[in-house]
Amino acid sequence: MNIILFGPPGAGKGTQAKKLVDFNGIPQISTGDILRANVREGTELGLAAKAYMDKGELVPDQVLIGIIKNRLKEQDCCKGFILDGYPRTVPQADVLAVILKEIGKPINVVLNLEVPDEVLVDRISKRLMCKCGASYHTVSNPPKKDNICDLCGCEVFQRSDDREEAVQNRLKVYKKQTQPLIDYYAKQGLLVTLDGTKNIDEVFEDIKAVLAKFA
Ligand code: ADP
Ligand code: ADP
Ligand code: ZN
Repeated sequence: MNIILFGPPGAGKGTQAKKLVDFNGIPQISTGDILRANVREGTELGLAAKAYMDKGELVPDQVLIGIIKNRLKEQDCCKGFILDGYPRTVPQADVLAVILKEIGKPINVVLNLEVPDEVLVDRISKRLMCKCGASYHTVSNPPKKDNICDLCGCEVFQRSDDREEAVQNRLKVYKKQTQPLIDYYAKQGLLVTLDGTKNIDEVFEDIKAVLAKFA
């Protein structure tokens, strides 16, 4: 299964991607996680990306294309992959189509998690995350032990771009640059829109029901 998890910031892409990895054993490719790892490690890529990320702007397409191309060619993608946070612009989607054609792995489905802005703002402002990519919410989905990641035992933290100013800008950027992809994939017959306001397990059940049709 080659899946795109699509939706605005805070829609639950990362949360659902982690559940899908456990469920069907195919890797999650989160461009946000890859960029944050580079920022942490102080790589050239990380240094170039940080200023954009902190402002809630998209990192330039050219930067992302190299990342995604290399990642998709790795061995663990042979049985499929879950793209989380890529593509975010029409040029990114066009490049993705070319790469996937080259490697013979067409997208099966684009799962679009629909969540209204006021819910997104609440989710993002109360999000805690771990450097392993796990994502928590102080109220609806807290870690089992205070401030400790359930998955890896590291301390969770608030992302620097999850503060109010950057959040508003990210929602604006989403509407302008990313939302057009809804039509883009609908026209290709790949888009399935799901109600992302349901609780985490309900959304996951809905996702599994969609994927069952492809099995
Ligand atoms: P969220 O989970 O809130 O949607 P991500 O973790 O996916 O956010 O991304 C965080 C930031 O990383 C984005 O605001 C953007 O600056 C950068 N980023 C991630 N993926 C992309 C992408 N495909 N294109 C451009 N920038 C990206
Ligand atoms: P995205 O990767 O799309 O930016 P996340 O998966 O990081 O989103 O989720 C954003 C925030 O919302 C996190 O705090 C997460 O725990 C919480 N969350 C995710 N899905 C749900 C849900 N269905 N109901 C309530 N809270 C959720
Ligand atoms: Zn962790």
